[in-house]
Amino acid sequence: MWTAIAQHISAQTGTAFTLQERRSVGGGCINQAYQVSDGRQSFFVKVNQATQVAMFEAEAQGLKEMYDSQTIRVPRPICWGTAEGSAYLAMEWLELGGGGDAWGCMGTALAAMHRVTSDRGFGWHQPNTIGATPQPNPWTPTWLEFYREHRLRHQFRLAGRRGGRFPRQHELLMALPDLLADHAPAPSLVHGDLWSGNAAVTQSGDPVILDPATYFGDREVDIAMTELFGRFPEAFYAAYQAAYPLDPGYGGRKILYNLYHILNHFTLFGGSYAAQANRMIDQLLR
Ligand code: ADP
Repeated sequence: MWTAIAQHISAQTGTAFTLQERRSVGGGCINQAYQVSDGRQSFFVKVNQATQVAMFEAEAQGLKEMYDSQTIRVPRPICWGTAEGSAYLAMEWLELGGGGDAWGCMGTALAAMHRVTSDRGFGWHQPNTIGATPQPNPWTPTWLEFYREHRLRHQFRLAGRRGGRFPRQHELLMALPDLLADHAPAPSLVHGDLWSGNAAVTQSGDPVILDPATYFGDREVDIAMTELFGRFPEAFYAAYQAAYPLDPGYGGRKILYNLYHILNHFTLFGGSYAAQANRMIDQLLR
């Protein structure tokens, strides 16, 4: 498998690459991850079962969309495919673990990415995954319909199949026009899964975002998620607000947008996330 991956990297980069070293990289939730190197160049390679190749293709396309926007640093995707029963995704290796004052730059750069828009409405040209959960992205003219049908209703369905009970889900879906009243966001290029584990700083001080669930949506989904599992450093929010101020009413929508991720956590992990989702629904309907 590694020979095939190295050959694919060589073909894609136009520079001969023969794998000399391979090192496991921890910290991922879903895939095995490796740093591979020939002593001169390094790449980051994720590996999973061959059935997961569509997930890697969508991740590569998402990275490419963000990379091509030239707004915020993401690893450049190199190639993906299957070899000997495994799926792989190879991308640029980044030396992570820098610190300093990169978080302000992260806010400014994310705001610039959020200014990238789509004339096809909300959605994306292909489905992708959020964690390991399928995430549909059909092009949809309004944010209300997109968020109601392809985010919340979709996730309620999956969480229901896993045994979750959400007695007020229909009430919530009916209340969405009110909850999103007076809010008409432009479609923004969003990361889609922006918790702290997917944001980092390179050793040269560049902010980076990783492991996206990209689509064109309300930019507030990204900001909301940065607040879901512990906030990003304050410099991030100050810089983002200076570059692209949030619309009034964001505080209420934040709960609505994070509900999607809590439902997805129930779909993935079960447990107390259903109760948390129900509390959020009660709060939204209050
Ligand atoms: P998973 O898809 O399994 O969740 P991640 O994309 O989160 O995997 O990657 C796992 C870890 O590997 C990250 O937390 C990060 O520290 C590191 N990492 C991710 N992408 C790169 C990269 N391009 N270069 C170097 N390290 C990376």
